[in-house]
Amino acid sequence: MIPIKQIRNFSIIAHIDHGKSTLADRFLQYCKAVEERVMKDQILDDMDLERERGITIKAHAVNLEYLSEKGGKFYLNLIDTPGHVDFSYEVSRSLAACEGVLLLVDATQGIQAQTLANMHLARQNGLAIIGVINKIDMPNADVRSCEEEMRSRLDIPEEMIYRVSAKTGEGVPALFEAIIRYIPCPETRIKGHKLKALIFDSIFDNYKGVILYLRIVSGRLQVGDQIYLMHGKKAYEILELGFMTPSFIKNRSLDTGMVGYVMANIRRPEDVSVGDTVTLENDKAAHPLHGFKPSTPMVFSGMYPVDPADYEELKKSFEKLKLNDSSLVYEPETSVALGFGFRVGFLGLLHMEIIQERIDREYGIGIIMTIPSVIYKVMNVKGEIFNVDNPSLFPSPEQIEGIDEPYVRAHIMIPSSCMGAIMRLCTDKRGELYETETLGMDRVVMTYLLPLAEILTDFYDKLKSITQGYGSIEYEEAGYHPTDVVKMDILLNGEPVDAFSTIVHRSKAESVGRSLILKLKEVIPRHLFAIPIQAAIGSKIIARETISALRKNVTAKCYGGDIT
Ligand code: GDP
Ligand code: MG
Repeated sequence: MIPIKQIRNFSIIAHIDHGKSTLADRFLQYCKAVEERVMKDQILDDMDLERERGITIKAHAVNLEYLSEKGGKFYLNLIDTPGHVDFSYEVSRSLAACEGVLLLVDATQGIQAQTLANMHLARQNGLAIIGVINKIDMPNADVRSCEEEMRSRLDIPEEMIYRVSAKTGEGVPALFEAIIRYIPCPETRIKGHKLKALIFDSIFDNYKGVILYLRIVSGRLQVGDQIYLMHGKKAYEILELGFMTPSFIKNRSLDTGMVGYVMANIRRPEDVSVGDTVTLENDKAAHPLHGFKPSTPMVFSGMYPVDPADYEELKKSFEKLKLNDSSLVYEPETSVALGFGFRVGFLGLLHMEIIQERIDREYGIGIIMTIPSVIYKVMNVKGEIFNVDNPSLFPSPEQIEGIDEPYVRAHIMIPSSCMGAIMRLCTDKRGELYETETLGMDRVVMTYLLPLAEILTDFYDKLKSITQGYGSIEYEEAGYHPTDVVKMDILLNGEPVDAFSTIVHRSKAESVGRSLILKLKEVIPRHLFAIPIQAAIGSKIIARETISALRKNVTAKCYGGDIT
């Protein structure tokens, strides 16, 4: 039995690339959780895709045993989290399983947009926050101003700010002592004595079925117990449970306050939802725990298997991915050109890219995707309002009374020298400036009201290139506002192709249409007859290109002594 006073549950949160995964490595090494010979950089990032791109996509949990010089043996449950704005729902899930966080700031870059967003999340959850200044080994580290900024902007008291180098390990032992000291033990959260455990993550294993990652909030869980999922309303028997170190280590029980895994021969992925409460079948808790805020998808796109025979496979792979990534939403859809497929909702473009690659790699299914779109609210002439995220369901122009599109409030953090260029970019993206605020270290935060659809395309890339990688953006929803968007069709040889239809702002329809048909002109092979490619709004053609016909070459056969 693990004494609850000796348990600490915490997460590492920070802006992307500030060193969360590297710090987690040092923790694992310090506690000798992995052998030196298997140790590698960012060891918790175990997905191929994560390693290749050097980013964390999934939160990863690991149990550590730490011997404190003063207070004996402690059980630390650490959750490493992703930093990209698309994955902040992963962070909020992790936080639901913790009592405290390490808020990491890169000493060479200072506070970034995601740092602030994550800090607000932690505060809302009432967690203890320890400030950590990382990369102090770098020659251009500005530890002083970084510390000043953490105190003034993040309200972290001086004694709770620590300086470390996740690379060399400097300062890490002191950080362990700080965790023991400042992060409360899980006792504070216990209410009642019946078993309540929060599912904060799950994965699918072909042999063992669904594996749940749980945080035991109250009560105790043992092998052989009959568990009951309060939201899923199903009961299962526990076959195995234990800790992640990061490999699975079996144990007899999981005690109050601990984080661990549970295998209960759950065969159907769709029966489990992350955020659900686990209790005992014959001693049920009265109320479920507060789950966390469900994520809302921002971008929608059609996904179709390249080979129509893969449809069922694709459906299964979505079910399994959903387990690992609760933010994914999908429903069946059909297209005249592409056949059977799915309409899928994503949190952002990076998320979309990741899902596409995971389906390709983990399940070996090639897919075709349609142009991403946001949800528009369309009011027709009868005064009915409905949501449209799919261009093929967009009503014809004479049916439409008004259209609203989603906006976001974007906080763009940039070096002050780039202000002019960023303002031009935002104006081009139909943005409206709210306010500008100066930060330390020569940086400003500009708050813009921007249409979500404009951010989704190439905004992030442009921001990065204008600011040489120093800019960052964070946004929250800012409701719907009236807009003038139209559905643009692409006609091949006079026939509309539904898969190419998009919803665009009227002012941009022509340029978007032109670039699309020029692209098509390059990729469509020539035929014996001319093929017109047209972009049209309703019946009005706004751009046209023609793939010229292959001319009959009558002299072609006359060379090389060909007697025919
Ligand atoms: P994450 O996105 O927050 O998980 O960041 P990573 O842990 O993947 O680290 C991003 C990059 O910063 C990697 O190339 C690390 O090697 C590097 N890095 C992390 N911590 C330190 C540090 O303390 N000193 C130096 N010099 N580099 C670091
Ligand atoms: Mg990482």
